[in-house]
Amino acid sequence: MWYLDDGTIIGDVADVFQIFELIRKEGPRLGLFLNVKKNEIWWPSRAGPDPFPPDVDRIENRGVKLLGAAIGSAAYTTEFVKKKLAALQEVCKDAQVEFGLFRGCLAYNKINHLLRTAPPDVLHEALEKFDDHFHEILAVILRVPCLSEEKWTHASLPTRFAGLGVTQTKTVAGAAFIGSSMLTKDLVAALLKQDPATFVPDGVEALLAEHNLAASTQHELQGLAGTPHVQRLLSNERHEAILKGIKAESDPRTQNLLTACSMPHASDWLLAPPIVGLGLNLPSDQFRTALKFRLGMSLFDAPFPCPSISKDGEACGIEMDVFGDHALCCHYGTSRVFRHNNLRDILAHTAKAAGLSAVVVEKKNQIAGSTKKPGDITVQQYHRGFPSSAFDVTVAHPLQKKYIEVAMSEAGVAAQEAHDRKLQKSLAVCSAEGLHFVPLAWESTGGATDSVHETIRKWTDLEAARGGYSSLLIRQTLYSQVSCCLQRHLAQAVIDRKPEAICSRVL
Ligand SMILES: [Zn+2]
Repeated sequence: MWYLDDGTIIGDVADVFQIFELIRKEGPRLGLFLNVKKNEIWWPSRAGPDPFPPDVDRIENRGVKLLGAAIGSAAYTTEFVKKKLAALQEVCKDAQVEFGLFRGCLAYNKINHLLRTAPPDVLHEALEKFDDHFHEILAVILRVPCLSEEKWTHASLPTRFAGLGVTQTKTVAGAAFIGSSMLTKDLVAALLKQDPATFVPDGVEALLAEHNLAASTQHELQGLAGTPHVQRLLSNERHEAILKGIKAESDPRTQNLLTACSMPHASDWLLAPPIVGLGLNLPSDQFRTALKFRLGMSLFDAPFPCPSISKDGEACGIEMDVFGDHALCCHYGTSRVFRHNNLRDILAHTAKAAGLSAVVVEKKNQIAGSTKKPGDITVQQYHRGFPSSAFDVTVAHPLQKKYIEVAMSEAGVAAQEAHDRKLQKSLAVCSAEGLHFVPLAWESTGGATDSVHETIRKWTDLEAARGGYSSLLIRQTLYSQVSCCLQRHLAQAVIDRKPEAICSRVL
């Protein structure tokens, strides 16, 4: 008997070979090209040779995979299952993959349709179980024995509100049901033979009142009926209210951390697929450290003197705080210079891809008669009126000592100050030399100045105009690369200063 891949029985070997030959010979005329190598034969009762070409894969008699199931001897099946398990274990070894799969496939999106179709009071008990389960999974990914309720609430905010985007169903269940009721209101009224102008679906008014109370809003059902994306609007309002609540109860450092992590593109690393070739992957220890830093969790048990060593062999000795802020400001060790050079190289690559003329990294003799190098990347004929332009990359930590005493009312202060400092230092000398000077200042948590966004927009538009991919795609990839680069170095700076890391290096 012969089976096709879908399990159909189609006769003996001669019949199958006839079909095979028919497709191979007649197919191309109809645009159907047989890929001979993709064919497999499993013939358990084989008595002699078969007429198929040598390229066709002959499955040994121990077993075969049919419709994803293993059919064959016990040894074959065991091996098959082991392979699956190994693939699964491989995935679960990588924190970034674990997190991506959890957030993208196993979290709230699994039951969004349920939230839209059943009122929250009916689901109440089940939703609690879902949220507890998500809470536990996140603790496992972070490798912590217990994730506090406060950190879990923070983590469950969307990434643009400084969370990890692991939504809690109890927060959005009301929004989902109201949103769906608003969309189907007229249809349900017609089915129930009621006047659509006055029809109100059961329980929706109470849900909206609950929402108005929790999010301090004043929506009315009539007003929402014509509003697009009601679920998104209401969910956003709930999350915004939660963020506000967390900020109100937090110390200035946490408030500033939340503000910094809410900046545009500061969360791109959490959404990037972990593609090694594009520089979007973070090893597990770095990824977990970066997640904990974002949630404001203690990274050390107690403060200790920073063990980083300078070129001359001198130890830093400044107090290393439990949140890791000193690691991002420490001038000892290699963390800062590695981060700077990594970021500079990503941007230089983008400048070249944009087709800018004569891109030079770390150009020598930028200023006549001086060894000063105001720019990391120099290009020619970029800005009208200047023969050359110098771009200078810098990264500042938004939670360095002077910024954590008082809560900031706006985001990006650290990046803006770093930008202004660079301008003050280099603008005069550059103007005298006829050099157009552009500081590109980031914060170590990922936010950046307007000049950065403006420059990235311009370069990626130029790259897109040269053909190939859309500027949107190029820009998103670049932002993700920069975001991953900053988080990688943020985490590594902390890891490098762990006392046990220093001990193992000495050993
Ligand atoms: Zn230090």
